[in-house]
Amino acid sequence: AEERMLRSEKLSVIGQLAAGVAHEIRNPLTALKGFTQLLRTKYRDETTYFGIMEGELDRINLIVNEFMTLAKPHLSPFQLGNVNDILQSVVSILDTQAILMNVEIVYRPLGVLPLISCNENQLKQVFVNIIKNAVEAMPGGGEVDITAQTLETPDGQFIHIRIKDEGLGIPEDMIKRLGEPFVTTKEKGTGLGLMVSTRIIEAHQGSMHIHSVPGEGTIVEVSLPVRFANVGLSLNQIIEERAEE
Ligand code: ADP
Ligand code: MG
Repeated sequence: AEERMLRSEKLSVIGQLAAGVAHEIRNPLTALKGFTQLLRTKYRDETTYFGIMEGELDRINLIVNEFMTLAKPHLSPFQLGNVNDILQSVVSILDTQAILMNVEIVYRPLGVLPLISCNENQLKQVFVNIIKNAVEAMPGGGEVDITAQTLETPDGQFIHIRIKDEGLGIPEDMIKRLGEPFVTTKEKGTGLGLMVSTRIIEAHQGSMHIHSVPGEGTIVEVSLPVRFANVGLSLNQIIEERAEE
């Protein structure tokens, strides 16, 4: 238990550092992007160099944004949230983009879900990352099937969310490395989505499992404890978080 504690303390220092650096990088980046756009217009980009520069600046921006999400778990308090609402809103955000890629996202809640103690924005980020990966895994189109249900286990009540795609799948040796930063197979990938998602789910005392068969598809399962409000946060922690606001 002591080792675990040290590990999470380390993560929080690294997280804070990452957020600090990311924040400082954002302003100069915005300026660079603006002036590059200006140059592209001014010289009508006869070379396409400015277009490439803009594309690369967008990429830095994407990475920086993912790092900022990484550090936020320590700052924002948990509130009672509705996983059903979170999933509905994420699906509606991603739907339009998915349709353009011939992908249909189908969400089916199996029964009424209890409220859980969570940070809604962070959970949204998790499901955006996972569902986007599912969509991106099906270049030829297909269906993303999402279900959510309440499960009773010896350890208490959990909300169990399952995201299934019919995509490329993940090779065995790759699965072990998922969640490590910068592990990506995509030309424009950051390899940060699953790392950030893992951290957020850990902060919710939940778990994530990935099963995949190359050529057939992938199932991502996320479990979130319902009674986290009572066991996870001590009164002191809640008071500390209130004080930070
Ligand atoms: P990124 O999407 O930027 O590459 P992620 O951390 O979201 O970074 O994912 C890391 C890698 O895991 C992806 O590049 C991909 O190879 C693999 N992956 C994740 N989800 C899926 C999925 N549903 N189907 C196939 N491969 C996946
Ligand atoms: Mg991704």
